[in-house]
Amino acid sequence: MKRPRTLKAAKHRAWRAISNFVRSAAADDEGYAQCITCGNIDHWKNLHAGHYVHGLTYGKDKDGPFVWVENVHPQCAGCNTYRNGQLHIYTLWMVDMYGRDFTERLIVERHKPVKMSIDDYWKIEREFYDALEA
Ligand SMILES: [Zn+2]
Repeated sequence: MKRPRTLKAAKHRAWRAISNFVRSAAADDEGYAQCITCGNIDHWKNLHAGHYVHGLTYGKDKDGPFVWVENVHPQCAGCNTYRNGQLHIYTLWMVDMYGRDFTERLIVERHKPVKMSIDDYWKIEREFYDALEA
């Protein structure tokens, strides 16, 4: 796997790795997973990786860049694209899954700017592909 040359390519590739991981990790042995907001079942390759808090994917701390993977879950195209993420249902699901404090934290984190480098994205891309193969 070659290091991406532009920030745009690095970001795109990292997101693709995260999306593949989130959707396939949720799938059963036959590759089927459920949309978390409407319950429709489809092959993970047909599902989207839908954000709860829009625009929140990456964070950074003393250990370096990380992904707010709890902010991304499988959704069908209908919910993610045409029904704006079904955010009212998504919110209830998040509170059930992670608790209210964590769900609120994601909402707060949205406003913290994160400056990512090509190497930050590249590190994440490799981590998520490794996790996929594990
Ligand atoms: Zn759906």
